[in-house]
Amino acid sequence: MRIITTRRISQTFFFLLFLWFCAVSTLGEQVWQLRGWPVGWLLELDPLVGLGTLLATGTLYAGLLWGLLTVVLTIFLGRVFCGWICPFGALHQAVGWLAGRKRSAAVQIAANRYRPAQRIKYVILIFLLSGAAGDFLAWLLDLSVESSIAVAGIAAASLACGIAAVRVRKAFWRRWTTVLVLLIIGWVGLGFLTDGSRLLAASLQTGLLDPLPLFYRSVNLTLLPLLDGRMAAFSSPGRLYPGSVAIGLLFWTVVLLNLVIPRFYCRFICPLGALLEILGRNALYRMGQKPDGCTACGACDRHCEGACDPSTTLRSAECVLCMNCLDRCPHDVMGYGLHPSAAGEMAGPDLSKREFTAALVSGVAAVPLLRLSGGVDANWNPAVIRPPGALDEANFLRRCIKCGQCMRVCPTNVIHPAGLQAGIEGIWTPVLNFRVGTSGCQRGCIACGQLCPTAAIRPIPLDERLGRGEFADRGPIRIGTAFVDRGRCLPWAMDRPCIVCQENCPVSPKAIFTREEFRPVRLSGDLRLREMVEDRLLFDGPALPAERFATGDYFVTLEESPDIAPVRIKDIGSGGISLAENPFVETASPGARITVRVKLQLPFVDPSACIGCGICEHECPVKGRRAIRVSAENASRDRQHRLLL
Ligand code: SF4
Repeated sequence: MRIITTRRISQTFFFLLFLWFCAVSTLGEQVWQLRGWPVGWLLELDPLVGLGTLLATGTLYAGLLWGLLTVVLTIFLGRVFCGWICPFGALHQAVGWLAGRKRSAAVQIAANRYRPAQRIKYVILIFLLSGAAGDFLAWLLDLSVESSIAVAGIAAASLACGIAAVRVRKAFWRRWTTVLVLLIIGWVGLGFLTDGSRLLAASLQTGLLDPLPLFYRSVNLTLLPLLDGRMAAFSSPGRLYPGSVAIGLLFWTVVLLNLVIPRFYCRFICPLGALLEILGRNALYRMGQKPDGCTACGACDRHCEGACDPSTTLRSAECVLCMNCLDRCPHDVMGYGLHPSAAGEMAGPDLSKREFTAALVSGVAAVPLLRLSGGVDANWNPAVIRPPGALDEANFLRRCIKCGQCMRVCPTNVIHPAGLQAGIEGIWTPVLNFRVGTSGCQRGCIACGQLCPTAAIRPIPLDERLGRGEFADRGPIRIGTAFVDRGRCLPWAMDRPCIVCQENCPVSPKAIFTREEFRPVRLSGDLRLREMVEDRLLFDGPALPAERFATGDYFVTLEESPDIAPVRIKDIGSGGISLAENPFVETASPGARITVRVKLQLPFVDPSACIGCGICEHECPVKGRRAIRVSAENASRDRQHRLLL
């Protein structure tokens, strides 16, 4: 079998596996839906996810150890992940191949030439990783003042390096040793002058451009929803994700750029590709030319997916191991093995010191700059309601890779990608929107935490969610608290009876309670008693429509009988009101003023019982901006959101 046939089978397999994982990430009755499938496995294989969370949090979530497999494979075999496994890479390759079929050899060779702009992906990688490493760097800064052992060690290391710099003969080593000494001295000085933990902060933004989270997010939130509701096999209720248009735009832009340059994303943007290039720059096995036989026919350059100039000095780090050169070479000159390319090779990455420093410094500075808005601290946005089990905001932003898995699996479609309400750092992270979807956040559901690949949403047990068993003393997990908007609430603002929120509150005892009040109804004129016939009051005055006043919520009182409680209206006929009973017989006389009163049950929220599930908000009949809305106040995940003293 041809090697590229094997590669294509591998790419097709992983591509279909990826689609399968996306498709089954919907809770449902079907036998294939979420029955223990390892739907996040491809995300776990992505070492950039593991490295990013390790730098941002100092910990590695167990599943992300799979990334080590990719690292080892890359160190030994080169970028086999890019060329043989990555489903996003497979898509780019397929689109690029389709676009290039009719092009002449010269045009294809030109499209596959190496371009200096391919360095951009390293800049992106360094920028994103240094943004994630803020806390680690702060720890290093603080270490220099907090630990006398560390300071002594640093001083000894500086001294040793200084001596070495003087003694070393080679200019190269002397220069770099001097730089190292200066760096260490600068670092210790900065540590004494500043408080690292107040100066720096970490935020994990690799998921914006990391191909696996990007592809998961795009398929979950922009492609599968096109089928949901139409193909009930996926999700019988249709799914909406407000704000996903930007996700779709990014996805289609990077896919369609393959029509101009094949594997555009992999060559210029992909931060995972850049990481694997660094790991695989001196891979044990790599592509290369054999010593003799090359006629410079250009067949290898024409089909090279990595744009790594295989006919000349091969840029081995750029090679994605598509093996097209090996397959297409008419003279069998190309090979894959332990020997370096006979035509020479360049390991890369060819990033200049200035570019490296600019990317590093801007990445470290970007997060503290963004935090000046106070969005994570004092100026937090209470509209940002995170799923149950989500970590506090600062830690959440250190872990979430914006993959959209939690949004896809949510059975009621209330988890959505954030726009700018969670700040620039929070873009495309999950927030709850109770206006969309089929209900609120279900009390018995813990699906989002089970699928989150980085534990930004903890995989909580059901007992913890419900606050029972060993978690009974903590109470149930609250994601926010409902607030009644008295300016929009029908009973409060418009004298219209409504207890929809109270009826739908799922907790027991209910977090929404009501207080009864009889309020006089505003009519277009006075109602005067003309005559009383048993339980029926005949009156003069404006007509009373039965569909409104005979619903059981309306009552009457008579001016002459102030001590008699309001009596319920049973029915309304031509010029008369039928009452449930008639206690006015003794006291009332013709001409007495009749007052129609509505019995209102005014809703109140008990913040100690409300868990912020949002079912009340979803069901509220005020369909625009709801009259009862959940905000993140009192959410369990963050002590600074506490509402009760
Ligand atoms: S919180 Fe949601 S979007 Fe973020 S990493 Fe977890 S599953 Fe993905």
